[in-house]
Amino acid sequence: MKTAVVWFRRDLRLHHNPALTAAARAADRVVPVFVWAPHEEAPWAPGAASRWWLHHSLAALGRSLDRLGAPLVIRAGESATVLSQLARQTGADTVYWNRLYEPAVRARDRVVEDALQRVGIGVETFNAALLVEPHTMANAQGEPYRMFTPFWRAAGQRIWEQEPEAAPRKLLAAAASSDGLDSLGLLPKIRWDRVMEATWRPGEAGALATLDTFCDEALSGYARQRDFPGERGTSRLSPHLHFGEIAPVQIVARLAALQARGVGGAGAETFLKELGWREFAHYLLWHFPHTAEAPLDARFEKFPWRKPAPGELRAWQRGRTGLPIVDAGLRELWATGWMHNRVRMVVASLLTKNLLLPWQEGARWYWDTLVDADLANNTLGWQWTAGCGADAAPFFRIFNPVLQSKKFDPRGAYLRRWLPELNDLPDEALHQPRPGAIIDLAASRARALEAFSKIKN
Ligand code: FAD
Repeated sequence: MKTAVVWFRRDLRLHHNPALTAAARAADRVVPVFVWAPHEEAPWAPGAASRWWLHHSLAALGRSLDRLGAPLVIRAGESATVLSQLARQTGADTVYWNRLYEPAVRARDRVVEDALQRVGIGVETFNAALLVEPHTMANAQGEPYRMFTPFWRAAGQRIWEQEPEAAPRKLLAAAASSDGLDSLGLLPKIRWDRVMEATWRPGEAGALATLDTFCDEALSGYARQRDFPGERGTSRLSPHLHFGEIAPVQIVARLAALQARGVGGAGAETFLKELGWREFAHYLLWHFPHTAEAPLDARFEKFPWRKPAPGELRAWQRGRTGLPIVDAGLRELWATGWMHNRVRMVVASLLTKNLLLPWQEGARWYWDTLVDADLANNTLGWQWTAGCGADAAPFFRIFNPVLQSKKFDPRGAYLRRWLPELNDLPDEALHQPRPGAIIDLAASRARALEAFSKIKN
């Protein structure tokens, strides 16, 4: 009897899981395993909100695999050691997994592959997370793209090429012991997760239901509504995509089916482009692995970032800056583990341009608090806003949080939801800096432009 190990990582689903499908096809018995080894992802081990999500997503995957007949094995330790031991214990001759693209994970995967091959165990890997893998695309000079539009144009028809694979109907297990999910200690000891519990449904079923709701209720208006944080105008698929509870291929197939029926229109096209930004973010991180820590635009290595004054960073993190849209965003993040994209940009702009604090400080805070914290997307988002990334907003374009707030939350629905203490203010006053705001917008804008003039040539 042939046995295969399937190493689950951030592909916590049964549908369109090429590693799982291939293993089920090639072997009689399948051993699904998740290995908890956060140190192998350092310095970007999953943050607190991600761990919370991971716990619930693993629980959901475990239930689904139980139903198929092959319970999920959970272990903590060194991935290479755990996988070779598990292969030996179960008599497996091959380990299957889906590829990931972060620098530390790629390095770790090479170590695992070598270790397995040294003891005579085969490795098969697959693309499950992207429409177009980074190593398959270059510009006419053979260089990596640095601009989104030519990148996405070059991806072209390829994004429609993959067909989603069905989930296996049944699996035959091989006996293997497992640690309990609770032993990984992913849930918080102090219960700060109650609003998150009420907001999210981690796991594959939750991801598919979220896609259904979005297609039914918001897709056709997405091109316009996506910028208004007070409305439910975006998909909220980001944590599901990050943990691989749904694949972009499945989303694209759904969009194609809707378009064939004349549904979706401009909304579907804009939405597809946002998935394109996710592809581009992974592409950039793969080609420029240093950018999780350092600016892609080397001029910014000499940028005169400030050192935070005592309490300054804390005031920003906890939504106590006195700028309503910024504070609302940071409180939404703290409570739910998510923040609307428009507000993510405004909040990041205040930190990097008005406060002149390094984008890496902000990236680390988002990393710990976002349920969708994703090294590629977060790096791109922060470098884009700070003006030091690929295709970035120029540094001299500085968001004015008051104008952004008036434009994208005109009736204050978002502000009132997250800052109930402002409830009684009239619409016009609502958007204005509060008395004691930590920064003067006009003076800090001038200071930022001055700082930028020092490096711009
Ligand atoms: P939708 O508008 O419904 O978009 C659908 C999907 O497209 C998203 O789920 C996401 O996977 C992808 N997407 C959309 N916009 C972007 C973008 N600008 N860049 C890359 N992918 C995108 N996104 C993350 O997933 N993880 C992060 O850690 C993250 N950090 C960010 C930090 C900053 C400073 C900024 C400005 C943006 C960041 N984003 C990040 C991108 C974006 O804000 C979120 O993907 C989006 O808000 C998620 O909500 P949604 O699923 O409803 O998005």
